[in-house]
Amino acid sequence: MTVVRAVATLMLGVSMIFDSWGYVMPHQDPSDILILVNKQNRAPIVPMTLVKPDVEPTSDAVSENIYMRPEAAAALEELFAGAAQDGITLYATSGFRSYSTQKAIFERKLERMSEESANRSVAKPGYSEHQTGLAMDVEGETTRGTGLTAAFGDSPEGKWLAAHCHEYGFIIRYPKGKTDITGYIYEPWHVRYVGKEAAGEITDLGVTFEEYILLMRGDRVQGLREASKTDAATTAETTEETEAARDES
Ligand SMILES: [Zn+2]
Repeated sequence: MTVVRAVATLMLGVSMIFDSWGYVMPHQDPSDILILVNKQNRAPIVPMTLVKPDVEPTSDAVSENIYMRPEAAAALEELFAGAAQDGITLYATSGFRSYSTQKAIFERKLERMSEESANRSVAKPGYSEHQTGLAMDVEGETTRGTGLTAAFGDSPEGKWLAAHCHEYGFIIRYPKGKTDITGYIYEPWHVRYVGKEAAGEITDLGVTFEEYILLMRGDRVQGLREASKTDAATTAETTEETEAARDES
Protein backbone atom coordinates (compact mmCIF):
# COMPACT_ATOMS: atom_id res chain seq x y z
CA MET A 1 0.00 0.00 0.00
CA THR A 2 2.80 2.35 0.90
CA VAL A 3 4.35 1.93 -2.51
CA VAL A 4 1.04 2.42 -4.32
CA ARG A 5 0.37 5.62 -2.41
CA ALA A 6 3.93 6.74 -2.98
CA VAL A 7 3.65 6.25 -6.74
CA ALA A 8 0.33 8.11 -6.79
CA THR A 9 1.93 11.00 -4.93
CA LEU A 10 4.80 10.95 -7.38
CA MET A 11 2.52 11.14 -10.40
CA LEU A 12 0.54 13.96 -8.87
CA GLY A 13 3.33 16.37 -8.68
CA VAL A 14 6.78 15.42 -7.51
CA SER A 15 8.25 15.62 -10.99
CA MET A 16 6.63 19.05 -11.46
CA ILE A 17 8.21 20.26 -8.24
CA PHE A 18 11.63 19.17 -9.41
CA ASP A 19 11.12 20.69 -12.83
CA SER A 20 10.61 24.11 -11.33
CA TRP A 21 12.68 24.17 -8.15
CA GLY A 22 14.87 22.00 -6.01
CA TYR A 23 13.65 20.59 -2.77
CA VAL A 24 15.34 21.78 0.41
CA MET A 25 15.17 19.34 3.27
CA PRO A 26 14.02 21.07 6.45
CA HIS A 27 16.18 18.95 8.72
CA GLN A 28 18.52 16.03 8.22
CA ASP A 29 20.28 13.72 10.62
CA PRO A 30 23.94 13.67 9.51
CA SER A 31 24.27 10.01 10.51
CA ASP A 32 21.25 8.90 8.43
CA ILE A 33 22.36 6.69 5.54
CA LEU A 34 19.44 8.20 3.57
CA ILE A 35 20.82 11.72 3.86
CA LEU A 36 20.10 13.77 0.74
CA VAL A 37 23.01 15.82 -0.54
CA ASN A 38 22.65 17.64 -3.84
CA LYS A 39 22.78 21.13 -5.32
CA GLN A 40 20.15 22.35 -2.81
CA ASN A 41 21.15 20.32 0.20
CA ARG A 42 24.56 20.78 1.75
CA ALA A 43 26.61 17.95 3.19
CA PRO A 44 26.92 18.34 6.95
CA ILE A 45 30.41 18.95 8.23
CA VAL A 46 30.60 16.54 11.12
CA PRO A 47 33.31 14.27 12.43
CA MET A 48 32.68 10.76 11.14
CA THR A 49 34.41 7.44 11.32
CA LEU A 50 35.90 6.49 8.00
CA VAL A 51 37.54 3.24 7.00
CA LYS A 52 39.34 2.06 3.91
CA PRO A 53 37.39 -0.75 2.21
CA ASP A 54 39.44 -3.81 1.40
CA VAL A 55 39.07 -3.47 -2.37
CA GLU A 56 41.46 -2.79 -5.24
CA PRO A 57 41.99 0.92 -6.00
CA THR A 58 42.07 1.97 -9.66
CA SER A 59 45.72 3.03 -9.23
CA ASP A 60 48.27 3.57 -6.46
CA ALA A 61 47.72 7.29 -6.84
CA VAL A 62 44.14 7.02 -5.60
CA SER A 63 44.66 4.36 -2.94
CA GLU A 64 44.22 6.89 -0.13
CA ASN A 65 41.12 8.44 -1.71
CA ILE A 66 38.74 5.55 -1.18
CA TYR A 67 37.69 5.86 2.45
CA MET A 68 34.01 5.42 3.34
CA ARG A 69 31.75 5.18 6.35
CA PRO A 70 32.10 1.67 7.84
CA GLU A 71 28.66 0.37 6.76
CA ALA A 72 29.22 1.60 3.20
CA ALA A 73 32.76 0.20 3.11
CA ALA A 74 31.54 -3.25 4.19
CA ALA A 75 28.81 -3.17 1.54
CA LEU A 76 31.34 -2.10 -1.10
CA GLU A 77 33.55 -5.07 -0.26
CA GLU A 78 30.55 -7.36 -0.77
CA LEU A 79 29.68 -5.60 -4.03
CA PHE A 80 33.18 -6.06 -5.44
CA ALA A 81 33.29 -9.68 -4.27
CA GLY A 82 29.90 -10.33 -5.88
CA ALA A 83 31.15 -8.83 -9.13
CA ALA A 84 34.29 -10.99 -8.99
CA GLN A 85 32.11 -14.09 -8.65
CA ASP A 86 30.47 -13.13 -11.94
CA GLY A 87 33.87 -12.60 -13.59
CA ILE A 88 33.66 -8.80 -13.33
CA THR A 89 36.60 -6.79 -11.97
CA LEU A 90 35.80 -3.45 -10.36
CA TYR A 91 38.16 -0.81 -8.99
CA ALA A 92 37.59 2.02 -6.53
CA THR A 93 38.63 5.51 -7.62
CA SER A 94 37.14 8.05 -5.25
CA GLY A 95 35.25 7.72 -1.98
CA PHE A 96 35.18 10.26 0.83
CA ARG A 97 36.26 13.78 -0.09
CA SER A 98 36.68 16.54 2.41
CA TYR A 99 35.40 20.05 1.83
CA SER A 100 38.90 21.26 0.94
CA THR A 101 39.54 18.43 -1.55
CA GLN A 102 36.24 19.21 -3.27
CA LYS A 103 37.17 22.89 -3.35
CA ALA A 104 40.43 22.08 -5.14
CA ILE A 105 38.62 19.83 -7.67
CA PHE A 106 36.00 22.48 -8.40
CA GLU A 107 38.61 25.20 -8.82
CA ARG A 108 40.58 23.01 -11.26
CA LYS A 109 37.40 22.60 -13.34
CA LEU A 110 36.81 26.34 -13.29
CA GLU A 111 40.19 26.90 -14.94
CA ARG A 112 38.95 24.94 -17.96
CA MET A 113 35.27 25.87 -18.26
CA SER A 114 32.51 28.25 -17.21
CA GLU A 115 31.01 28.01 -13.74
CA GLU A 116 27.74 26.77 -15.24
CA SER A 117 29.46 23.87 -17.03
CA ALA A 118 31.67 23.09 -14.04
CA ASN A 119 28.59 22.98 -11.85
CA ARG A 120 26.95 20.32 -14.02
CA SER A 121 29.80 17.85 -13.69
CA VAL A 122 31.40 18.65 -10.34
CA ALA A 123 29.76 19.58 -7.08
CA LYS A 124 30.60 22.87 -5.42
CA PRO A 125 32.54 22.41 -2.19
CA GLY A 126 30.10 21.54 0.59
CA TYR A 127 27.56 20.07 -1.82
CA SER A 128 29.32 16.87 -2.87
CA GLU A 129 27.80 13.54 -1.99
CA HIS A 130 31.37 12.29 -1.61
CA GLN A 131 31.57 14.39 1.56
CA THR A 132 29.06 12.00 3.21
CA GLY A 133 31.40 9.01 3.01
CA LEU A 134 28.56 7.06 1.38
CA ALA A 135 29.55 7.42 -2.29
CA MET A 136 32.18 5.78 -4.47
CA ASP A 137 33.33 6.32 -8.04
CA VAL A 138 33.92 2.91 -9.57
CA GLU A 139 35.90 1.84 -12.62
CA GLY A 140 36.12 -1.49 -14.41
CA GLU A 141 38.84 -3.59 -16.02
CA THR A 142 37.70 -2.70 -19.57
CA THR A 143 37.92 1.07 -19.12
CA ARG A 144 40.52 1.18 -16.33
CA GLY A 145 42.65 4.28 -16.49
CA THR A 146 40.54 6.03 -19.13
CA GLY A 147 38.91 8.15 -16.46
CA LEU A 148 35.31 8.47 -15.42
CA THR A 149 33.28 8.72 -18.60
CA ALA A 150 29.84 7.71 -19.85
CA ALA A 151 31.55 4.87 -21.78
CA PHE A 152 31.75 2.99 -18.48
CA GLY A 153 27.97 2.59 -18.65
CA ASP A 154 28.29 0.53 -21.85
CA SER A 155 31.18 -1.63 -20.59
CA PRO A 156 30.50 -5.09 -19.12
CA GLU A 157 31.48 -3.77 -15.68
CA GLY A 158 29.18 -0.73 -15.95
CA LYS A 159 26.28 -2.93 -17.06
CA TRP A 160 26.90 -5.36 -14.22
CA LEU A 161 27.06 -2.51 -11.71
CA ALA A 162 23.77 -1.01 -12.91
CA ALA A 163 22.03 -4.38 -12.80
CA HIS A 164 23.34 -5.60 -9.44
CA CYS A 165 24.44 -2.76 -7.19
CA HIS A 166 21.02 -2.53 -5.50
CA GLU A 167 21.48 -6.08 -4.22
CA TYR A 168 24.32 -4.73 -2.09
CA GLY A 169 22.58 -1.53 -0.99
CA PHE A 170 23.87 0.83 -3.69
CA ILE A 171 22.19 2.88 -6.41
CA ILE A 172 23.46 4.55 -9.57
CA ARG A 173 22.94 8.02 -8.16
CA TYR A 174 22.88 10.03 -11.41
CA PRO A 175 20.97 8.02 -14.01
CA LYS A 176 20.72 8.85 -17.70
CA GLY A 177 18.14 11.51 -18.62
CA LYS A 178 17.52 12.68 -15.03
CA THR A 179 19.71 15.79 -14.97
CA ASP A 180 16.64 17.99 -14.39
CA ILE A 181 16.06 16.22 -11.10
CA THR A 182 19.51 15.26 -9.85
CA GLY A 183 21.32 18.30 -11.24
CA TYR A 184 24.06 16.07 -12.66
CA ILE A 185 24.89 14.55 -16.00
CA TYR A 186 24.72 10.75 -16.36
CA GLU A 187 27.38 9.23 -14.11
CA PRO A 188 27.27 5.44 -14.47
CA TRP A 189 30.36 5.17 -12.24
CA HIS A 190 29.04 6.96 -9.16
CA VAL A 191 27.33 4.65 -6.68
CA ARG A 192 25.72 5.76 -3.46
CA TYR A 193 25.13 3.55 -0.45
CA VAL A 194 21.54 3.78 0.84
CA GLY A 195 21.09 0.30 2.34
CA LYS A 196 19.47 -2.73 0.73
CA GLU A 197 15.85 -1.82 1.49
CA ALA A 198 15.96 1.66 -0.03
CA ALA A 199 18.15 0.52 -2.93
CA GLY A 200 15.63 -2.21 -3.75
CA GLU A 201 12.68 0.18 -3.60
CA ILE A 202 14.41 2.87 -5.67
CA THR A 203 15.27 0.28 -8.30
CA ASP A 204 11.76 -1.22 -8.34
CA LEU A 205 10.13 2.20 -8.64
CA GLY A 206 12.66 3.40 -11.20
CA VAL A 207 12.98 6.76 -9.45
CA THR A 208 15.91 8.99 -8.58
CA PHE A 209 17.06 9.34 -4.97
CA GLU A 210 15.57 12.87 -4.89
CA GLU A 211 12.14 11.53 -5.86
CA TYR A 212 12.43 8.66 -3.41
CA ILE A 213 13.26 10.94 -0.47
CA LEU A 214 10.37 13.22 -1.30
CA LEU A 215 8.05 10.23 -1.59
CA MET A 216 9.21 8.95 1.78
CA ARG A 217 8.69 12.37 3.33
CA GLY A 218 5.26 12.72 1.72
CA ASP A 219 4.32 9.33 3.04
CA ARG A 220 5.56 10.16 6.54
CA VAL A 221 3.75 13.50 6.60
CA GLN A 222 0.56 11.73 5.47
CA GLY A 223 1.05 9.16 8.23
CA LEU A 224 1.58 11.91 10.82
CA ARG A 225 -1.55 13.73 9.61
CA GLU A 226 -3.60 10.54 9.94
CA ALA A 227 -2.14 9.89 13.39
CA SER A 228 -2.93 13.43 14.56
CA LYS A 229 -6.52 13.08 13.25
CA THR A 230 -6.87 9.87 15.26
CA ASP A 231 -5.39 11.63 18.30
CA ALA A 232 -7.87 14.51 17.93
CA ALA A 233 -10.79 12.07 17.62
CA THR A 234 -9.60 10.16 20.69
CA THR A 235 -9.24 13.42 22.66
CA ALA A 236 -12.78 14.46 21.65
CA GLU A 237 -14.18 11.13 22.77
CA THR A 238 -12.31 11.31 26.07
CA THR A 239 -13.66 14.83 26.71
CA GLU A 240 -17.20 13.65 26.01
CA GLU A 241 -16.75 10.68 28.31
CA THR A 242 -15.39 12.95 31.05
CA GLU A 243 -18.34 15.29 30.68
CA ALA A 244 -20.74 12.37 30.67
CA ALA A 245 -19.10 11.06 33.82
CA ARG A 246 -19.39 14.50 35.42
CA ASP A 247 -23.11 14.58 34.61
CA GLU A 248 -23.57 11.29 36.32
CA SER A 249 -21.75 12.24 39.49
ZN1 LIG B 1 31.29 10.58 -7.76
